[in-house]
Amino acid sequence: MENKLTIYNTLSRKKELFEPINPPFVGLYVCGPTVYGDAHLGHARPAITFDLLFRYLKFMGYRVRYVRNITDVGHLVNDADEGEDKIAKKAKLEQLEPMEVVQFYSNRYHKNMEQLNTLPPSIEPHASGHIIEQQELIKQIIENGFAYESEGNIYFDVERYNQKYHYGKLSGRKIDELFANTRELSGQQEKRNPFDFALWKKASPEHIMRWPSPWGVGFPGWHLECSCMSQKYLGETFDIHGGGLDLQFPHHECEIAQNVAAQGHEAVKYWMHNNMVTINGQKMGKSLGNFITLDQLFTGDNNVLEQAYSPMTVRFFILQAHYRSPLDFSNEALKAAEKGYERMMAAVSQLNRLKVSNENTVDIAALQENCFEAINDDLNTPILIAHLFEGVRIINSIAAGTEKINAENLDMLKKLFHNFVFDILGLKGEEDSSASNQALGKVIDAMMNIRKTARANKDWATSDSIRDELKNAGIQIKDTKDGYEWSLE
Ligand code: ZN
Repeated sequence: MENKLTIYNTLSRKKELFEPINPPFVGLYVCGPTVYGDAHLGHARPAITFDLLFRYLKFMGYRVRYVRNITDVGHLVNDADEGEDKIAKKAKLEQLEPMEVVQFYSNRYHKNMEQLNTLPPSIEPHASGHIIEQQELIKQIIENGFAYESEGNIYFDVERYNQKYHYGKLSGRKIDELFANTRELSGQQEKRNPFDFALWKKASPEHIMRWPSPWGVGFPGWHLECSCMSQKYLGETFDIHGGGLDLQFPHHECEIAQNVAAQGHEAVKYWMHNNMVTINGQKMGKSLGNFITLDQLFTGDNNVLEQAYSPMTVRFFILQAHYRSPLDFSNEALKAAEKGYERMMAAVSQLNRLKVSNENTVDIAALQENCFEAINDDLNTPILIAHLFEGVRIINSIAAGTEKINAENLDMLKKLFHNFVFDILGLKGEEDSSASNQALGKVIDAMMNIRKTARANKDWATSDSIRDELKNAGIQIKDTKDGYEWSLE
């Protein structure tokens, strides 16, 4: 199929035609989570955005190697070069080994990602598993003259780097402004400049995550792992690097500087950033009292939103916005997404029951072209979904008999929905989606009431037949002291 995919490159600040460096192979690197707590709303968006990209690239026929890291060392509590390691802090608090914390929250992260129907990455490397490679990268940067040692720490020399290259090219920040903004905050005497960042930190005696190195016992700086592991698994140059907009500076800016300082040229052809999420119009934060994990979102166990929202509703909701636009989680918007998702899925099952006609009054080729045009336009999913709803209208009109479809067009329509709804948008049917579950519950209640009346009237035939019919439908009824419970077999 013809490649017309354009993506917005944060580096060039414009949409570019996607042309892989070494087709049919595509290297995709995405910054993964720091695993010291449950995944929250903020984790769902990059996961779904780059899952969509991964799915579409594969759909286009590319052989994609998708690398998403697990940060399990070096990410300090204040996101800068001071303070405790986030993992180690949690480990101390819970009296666990740091790697127990990492395993526990990685497992939970994977469960949430599976619920959201994101495909697992091809490789999921851990920062702590690449200490030697990170030390080698540091040695290269020191050898090239862009890092210095100070009291057992290794810092990246931003000023020196900026004399030869351009620090700030991704985020658009200027080094003089950085200098003005950071000078006063600095209490870090061992740095030449306050905006220099750590490649290696000396471990204080109480710091539990520590490794030997040529510069003494310590641990790697947070930005280093992504430069190192992307290079290891995708090569010195690769196609796409993704992540949340919050990572653009300093994390991705530092990654570029490290790569260029080590190898003399950039690594990444296209930088992609998803925009951030808010909740009820506010930035989400523990201090604001509106922090909500994905588990709490899916179960409704929170004080921020009115009800539970299923993983597929959340996925659909995220895809209804363009990835570069901000997205606000509010009850109203989520409820609308829940309805929209159910309408889409109802149409998908209706599609399988449509009857072929000799006549044809619908233009599926045009609909298909519109869908591809939308996804090729920097993954414009809101427009794509709007076109799919035009497809829903067509399906419902055919079912109602006001439009006719012939065999060829019906095949095309089925393929179109299958490709876009399931393979590319990554949606799937949800048996226990709340609305249909509630409707089923009401039907069972009604039948059980009839059974109760029948039993009171000693009408055993009716009572038994209701029990048998429910059983035939795959519904298990268990009598309890307060009434009954039902479950699907
Ligand atoms: Zn990263």
